[in-house]
Amino acid sequence: MPEISKHNVTAGQTSAKPGSRYDYDVIVIGAGVAGIYQIKLLMDLGIHATVLDAEEDLGGTWYNNRYPGARFDSESYTYGYSFSKEVLNEWHWKEQFSGQPENLRYLNYVADKFELRKYMQFNCQVESAHFDETNDVWRLKISDGRKLTCRFVIMALGLLSIPTLPRIKGMDTFTGQSFHTFHWPHEPVEMNSKRVAVIGTGATAIQLIAEIADKVEELTVFQRRPNWSAPLNNSPISEEEMTNIRSRYDEIFATCARTPGGFEHEPDRRGFYEVSREERLALWDRLYDEPGFGIWLRNFREIFTDEEPNAELSAYIAERIRERVNDPVTAEKLIPRDHGFGVQRVPLESHYFEAYNRDNVHLVDISETPIQRITKTGLRTSEHTYDFDIIVYATGFDAVTGAFDGIDIVGVGGEKLRDKWNDGPSTFLGMFVHGFPNLLMPTGPQSGSASTNYPRGIETGVNWCTTFLEYMREHGYVRADTTLEAEQRWTAHVTKMYSKMLMRKAKGWFTGYNSNLDGHEHGKTRYFVYNGGAPKYVATINEVAEKGYEGIVLRSGPASSSQFSASSSKAVNGEGVSQRG
Ligand code: NAP
Repeated sequence: MPEISKHNVTAGQTSAKPGSRYDYDVIVIGAGVAGIYQIKLLMDLGIHATVLDAEEDLGGTWYNNRYPGARFDSESYTYGYSFSKEVLNEWHWKEQFSGQPENLRYLNYVADKFELRKYMQFNCQVESAHFDETNDVWRLKISDGRKLTCRFVIMALGLLSIPTLPRIKGMDTFTGQSFHTFHWPHEPVEMNSKRVAVIGTGATAIQLIAEIADKVEELTVFQRRPNWSAPLNNSPISEEEMTNIRSRYDEIFATCARTPGGFEHEPDRRGFYEVSREERLALWDRLYDEPGFGIWLRNFREIFTDEEPNAELSAYIAERIRERVNDPVTAEKLIPRDHGFGVQRVPLESHYFEAYNRDNVHLVDISETPIQRITKTGLRTSEHTYDFDIIVYATGFDAVTGAFDGIDIVGVGGEKLRDKWNDGPSTFLGMFVHGFPNLLMPTGPQSGSASTNYPRGIETGVNWCTTFLEYMREHGYVRADTTLEAEQRWTAHVTKMYSKMLMRKAKGWFTGYNSNLDGHEHGKTRYFVYNGGAPKYVATINEVAEKGYEGIVLRSGPASSSQFSASSSKAVNGEGVSQRG
């Protein structure tokens, strides 16, 4: 076995499955929140598996996004894994909305607690995955030159793991420091006495700008379109509060399981039109000052689907912005006009609007004065030339399918997934793709996780996929492929739900819009997320399982090939088999 990485595995633990015609029962791609949990469950079942990750270490999103201000928009204690009582009792979340360094520490703590690192291989970019129809195995090529085979591939690639840069002339000529927020350097970036440009005003930029405004000499924000955002209202969690949270974990996760978004925030079940305007305003006053997504998810359900309630709420939020920004011209520039509040995931901020009241922070509206080129010393818009020491691109991601496109995935009959999904994904339950047998996506496009509190959706998907693998093993099946009919039905269902949502009109990653990618224009909607809410999604996938995996064609192999089976080296962990709902 060649040297893999500095976090290398010990010999034997990731080696080929003894006596088998393939190396692993399961290869999980991605060592983020989903991959860590997935390998935990596979190890509990004694399935011979490994995790491959392109980065130097585990953590996915929380490994990469090290920009100042990066933190949860979920309440920390609803973001953590729910599967282990020990973890829940041991871990102390220090803030209501925990920051990136702590989040990465948490994921490392979980991986180390269950000794999962030894099943992980880093610096392993999967370049291709081809399905071998004769043997019902996947053949993977890895960037280190190795070829690996496995019965099943589990994609735990992340929804927002492929950053996209703008296509501006001269980007390679800039002599200062420049980077995408996703690739924020691991070593400290000296910001004091620096002139910094931030391009983009999405959720990432909103966190970053607020955090660095008082730390840099000059901060110039280049905004093409403003985004709605609302206060995070973060605060520390004391020992006493944490003890209380621990005592309520069952209740907390039960609440998350019954809300559409997988948060503690339950929608206001009253009809928008049944409530007087005074009552609506009183509710919004309260929610705006509450921590987290209350103003988005504790609101009336009509705000997502009905123009009029949405417009009234948007006007309310616009007023709150005007109250917070001293300069009326700047305030108006920060208020979105092309979409309503909450039709896409709402960035949560900590004093973002107040940052624009500082003398050293400047807002440049590049819809009026576009950036013409990046220069050696800064950038030039149609109106001004600017000098900078640092240019930060907070310009978003090739969302959801980008990470799949980055791997040459070839299924039955030589069909490429990239081609099949050229105009947008089509899946069954967000977990299977017809013609790509034995490829599982616990958090795939059109699954329940994309539109929720991610780890809640991730646990749902990973639990379901693991139970499915157990079923395959118990029944001696070697191949599983969804039918084209099931895939078309699910995709049509997901598509239809978009037609009810105001989201369909917004230019954002939920609809596949990205001006930096060809074919991702506004109006060419990609149906990336399931909008039916977590409870309905869970009920649907459980029903499929109860009906013997209806919509999935399962095939046994010849006795000699046998099903994948327990490896001789059953994983050791403190708690045995996980609780899975
Ligand atoms: P984003 O929402 O896609 O925002 C990208 C920003 O860059 C937009 O303002 C966009 O402007 C701008 N932009 C892109 N290309 C540009 C170009 N060529 N020229 C000028 N401006 C350009 O990306 P993001 O802010 O990274 O957030 C993505 C998602 O990550 C969020 O929706 C959220 O789900 C997640 N996130 C979560 C957290 C958290 O709190 N946990 C934090 C950060 C991000 P236009 O709007 O005009 O396209």
